[in-house]
Amino acid sequence: MGFELDWIKSRSVLLPNKCAVIDTVSNNAWTYSQLNDRSAYLAEYFLSIGVQKGYRIALLATNHVCYFDFLFACIKIGAIFVPLNWRLSTSELGYMLEDCTPTIVGIQSSFIKQTDQWKLDFQLLEIDSNNYISRLNNRPRNTKTKLDLSENDPLAMIYTGGTTGKPKGAVLSHRSIVWNGINTIVSWNLTDQDTTLTCLPMFHTGGLNALSIPILMAGGTVVLSPSFRPEQAVKHLIDYKCTIVLFVPTMYHMLIKSADFEKANFPNMKVFLSGGAPCPLGIYEIFSLRGFAFKEGYGLTEAGPNNFYIDPKDAKRKPGSVGKPMLFNEVKIVNSNGNKTSDDEVGELLLRGNHLFDYYWNKKDATSRAIVKGWLHTGDLARMDDEGYVYIVGRKKDMIITGGENVYPLEIENWMESHDSVEEIAVIGVSDEKWGEMVIAFVAPHHNVSVTEEELKEYCKKKMASYKIPKRFYIVDQLPKTHVGKINKNQLKKQLRKVKE
Ligand code: ATP
Repeated sequence: MGFELDWIKSRSVLLPNKCAVIDTVSNNAWTYSQLNDRSAYLAEYFLSIGVQKGYRIALLATNHVCYFDFLFACIKIGAIFVPLNWRLSTSELGYMLEDCTPTIVGIQSSFIKQTDQWKLDFQLLEIDSNNYISRLNNRPRNTKTKLDLSENDPLAMIYTGGTTGKPKGAVLSHRSIVWNGINTIVSWNLTDQDTTLTCLPMFHTGGLNALSIPILMAGGTVVLSPSFRPEQAVKHLIDYKCTIVLFVPTMYHMLIKSADFEKANFPNMKVFLSGGAPCPLGIYEIFSLRGFAFKEGYGLTEAGPNNFYIDPKDAKRKPGSVGKPMLFNEVKIVNSNGNKTSDDEVGELLLRGNHLFDYYWNKKDATSRAIVKGWLHTGDLARMDDEGYVYIVGRKKDMIITGGENVYPLEIENWMESHDSVEEIAVIGVSDEKWGEMVIAFVAPHHNVSVTEEELKEYCKKKMASYKIPKRFYIVDQLPKTHVGKINKNQLKKQLRKVKE
């Protein structure tokens, strides 16, 4: 089956004058026709400097219209778009650049200083202003090349969040990105009347694939913000009449504390989505009490990131569930023997569908461990209830075996987050002679609130079996986060090893 790959061109024919993208910093806006023209021009420029099918084109920038210019230019010429995490250190970025060997790197001038330290062979294209495209005007044109492109050709390489190790470049085909869009549009009934605010970084699948691309496929409007500040986010959501938005739980934590959020009523909002990490039930309850539709989603760079759908009305009945599989997504939960689990039994979550990634760049072994017979082994544990609703139980790597019993950190974290003093918590396992692994918790209390280890243990006793109760609670000011804002358990384990040495 084939389809028109250059869907932004089709969109520009169907809705030429519709507003596609708004930049909240400059207040500039672009129609579909302008967006298509920008990328067509950039594509010509890339061809003129010798970019060929399969070449990598990287981008180091905060959220900006250039993400769409670069992505759509790559769609037109078969190059691979590689958005890079600007929050990384120079050496971490150096690792990624050595890995993906781009021909050209689009870069904001604030990041240029570090380029001296990369002894690599690529061209730089400064994308400082929104008009950088017009500076390419005098470049020779080379539109005659007839490219032989297929939906299975690679289109983007997105590095994973690096929560469990070094980030891996997940290669996504045209097919994968389009089908993620179709799944999302169908599930959330997205139309050209929808508008989203993108504060999540667009180098990450959450900022790029979760809503930005699907909204453009549907003909809606994407409002871009290069950073997340709660008061500003509330204002943007209201001023731009946003209908759907995705934030990670850390952002929701910040949002619900803001006075502006307390006053706002978001008249246009169809649904608030949370994703990328487990969402505390407390956040869901606050939204529910305010009468806002709220839904937790689940995804990963390698699949989508949109995989499940739940009607917000059912979300009330099924707290903590990410929902049922989206229309074109197959889901299976298997035990350690690879057999399907029965109702409510915990096992590894497997996904299959056109939206899956194809392979990890330069990592054949990791690819063959991740995709087996067409199924993506997510490395996440889940259970499905008798009505088919799926609950994420945690990462397989995070599961703790203590005294022969399985402990799922998320279960403890969910309960402890309901304690009045607890702002954030992370539960990890550390090796122990007596127990095999010992359950340990790190707790960051709310600002100016104190809590003791004894109080926290007493609170655990109300809910859980004694083997699950952390043997130690470390009270800390804040928990370390990954570059995409998730709690970094690897870092906590390292810190603990240092304390023990
Ligand atoms: P790496 O693969 O490099 O270790 P990462 O797993 O953080 O990093 P991402 O693709 O950014 O890479 O994140 C996907 C992961 O985020 C999922 O595998 C899952 O563990 C977690 N996740 C996403 N949504 C949820 C959710 N709703 N509940 C629990 N965990 C979630």
